[in-house]
Amino acid sequence: MTKIQMTTPLVEMDGDEMTRVLWQMIKDKLILPYVDLKTEYYDLGLLSRNATKDQITVDAANAAVKYGVAVKCATITPNRQRMIEYPELTEQWKSPNGTIRSIMDGTVFRTPILIDSIKPVVKNWTMPITVARHAYGDVYKAVDMKTDEPGEAVLTFKGESGKETVLSVQKVNGPAIFQGQHNKSASIRSFAKACFQYAIDRKQDLWFSTKDTISKVYDSEFRAIFEEEFENFKDKFEELGITYFYTLIDDAVARVIRSEGGFIWALKNYDGDVMSDMISTAFGSLAMMTSVLVTPDGKFEYEAAHGTVTKHYYRYLKGEQTSTNPMATIFAWSGALRKRGELDGLADLISFADRLEAACFATLNAGIMTKDLAALADEGVCKKQAASEEFLDEIASRI
Ligand code: NAP
Ligand code: MG
Repeated sequence: MTKIQMTTPLVEMDGDEMTRVLWQMIKDKLILPYVDLKTEYYDLGLLSRNATKDQITVDAANAAVKYGVAVKCATITPNRQRMIEYPELTEQWKSPNGTIRSIMDGTVFRTPILIDSIKPVVKNWTMPITVARHAYGDVYKAVDMKTDEPGEAVLTFKGESGKETVLSVQKVNGPAIFQGQHNKSASIRSFAKACFQYAIDRKQDLWFSTKDTISKVYDSEFRAIFEEEFENFKDKFEELGITYFYTLIDDAVARVIRSEGGFIWALKNYDGDVMSDMISTAFGSLAMMTSVLVTPDGKFEYEAAHGTVTKHYYRYLKGEQTSTNPMATIFAWSGALRKRGELDGLADLISFADRLEAACFATLNAGIMTKDLAALADEGVCKKQAASEEFLDEIASRI
């Protein structure tokens, strides 16, 4: 069989633990037999990051900017306990996702993978809802103050020009708490662009919600920047028959629950933090959630939303078979291959990505599932609970 050809390499970012094991199996069983895979490989495994003083993460992110499409395996973000587990670590290296996000200046979009036999908790959701969370500022970069006597808090901005702007926050007659938040117009603009860009890419409506009736300057600025940016995307939206819809956050919550899904919901940092957990739980599980980082100028990094599945890895190291769900990682690969195919005009590669996803659905619809899905599926749906490798073989037999 002649393999499907590629013209531009994918940036491949390998990772850690159980997902690293799955990564290799996915390549061997589902991709390499069919695609003459071209990748520029970066090992973001913890020890490789340590050996390069994390330079490998920076190089990988720069390669993603250069080539435009990357696929990333889950990686360990070291904490104190990992420093003990890996004594060779010279530093508690930063989260690779954070490093990549700041170099690519991107926004993360998370979308559930839906299958017939696992019903969302909200019964009218028949299509996935994608959450786009702004990843800079607000309460995540706030300063807090607690005071214990009567007095006044004042907000002062000292311009580089020498001009000062002063605002009374509140006079209080007893103990009180205060918080100073900020965001940057440039960051909000990047977020807006990435959202419009991604809506066009997915041919889906974009919703955006804030509380601008109450937050008349702060949230109104988010709304205004989105409206300004929309002018640059309006024609394309009209051409595709999709809409940009702004509404208040509380109205949006009610509408989301009553909707059928099938749109992208852009949210400020805190709202996105809370709502993405609610949406992913209501749709099923993190093992069925894909994630893509999109830059304002249309570069893409695909990954699974879950971590390295440490507990399964330790069972695997003891020689046990695990039933770890590879769906989100497979869809990271299919998403990246499809995007590469679209950018390079390779119809065969696009169709391969479709077939790979269809084979995954065919396997699940035949009742062959990993343990986590067997537990979530409707009664009697699971005919065979498969170990990861077996599950991948079943998918391969259906491509
Ligand atoms: P996790 O790897 O997502 O796993 C938590 C639990 O969720 C697992 O023990 C498992 O439950 C279940 N699970 C997650 N993915 C699954 C899958 N594909 N198939 C079946 N079950 C799955 O989160 P964690 O244990 O908190 O974090 C482990 C490491 O991942 C950490 O070092 C963290 O830094 C890293 N992490 C990386 C990323 C990333 O690179 N994007 C994201 C999050 C976390 P059961 O044990 O009950 O089966
Ligand atoms: Mg959260």
